[in-house]
Amino acid sequence: MSGLFCGGCACGAIRYECSAEPLLSEICYCRDCQRSSGNASAALLFVPMANFTLTSGSPKFYRVTGTSGFPLDRGFCSRCGSPMVVKPHRLPDLIVIAAASLDDPSAFRPQVEIWTRSAPPWACLHPTLLKIPEQMTAEERDALFALAPRLASFSRS
Ligand SMILES: [Zn+2]
Ligand SMILES: [Zn+2]
Repeated sequence: MSGLFCGGCACGAIRYECSAEPLLSEICYCRDCQRSSGNASAALLFVPMANFTLTSGSPKFYRVTGTSGFPLDRGFCSRCGSPMVVKPHRLPDLIVIAAASLDDPSAFRPQVEIWTRSAPPWACLHPTLLKIPEQMTAEERDALFALAPRLASFSRS
């Protein structure tokens, strides 16, 4: 497998590569992402699990109930603490990568900002991106799939 992009944690113990373009790139302002990232939001890339390979080390996982109400496993480096990946139970064929872990974070191209209602007043929201303020409505889901059509085939609900 040849890596299209790669990344890793702050200390270098964990390295990964990915052989597919992201299905979706989003910025999430939910409280769960805020706590795990230590920031106003988390920048996240969704990629097919089949295209993701750990080339060194492996994250340690803890389980939380996400703001959507569904469980997810958050993976971080147990040596340096960097948030690395998220495995949403609802989307078992996907893995979500923290964009800050990319070797080239400038490659991140956000398409949507979600849970914007819980963005703190000091956060700078993008002026033109699609906004989903809280739990996604059917209309918002359609708008999201229009931006990220390959994501639809991974979504089972
Ligand atoms: Zn590390
Ligand atoms: Zn979130």
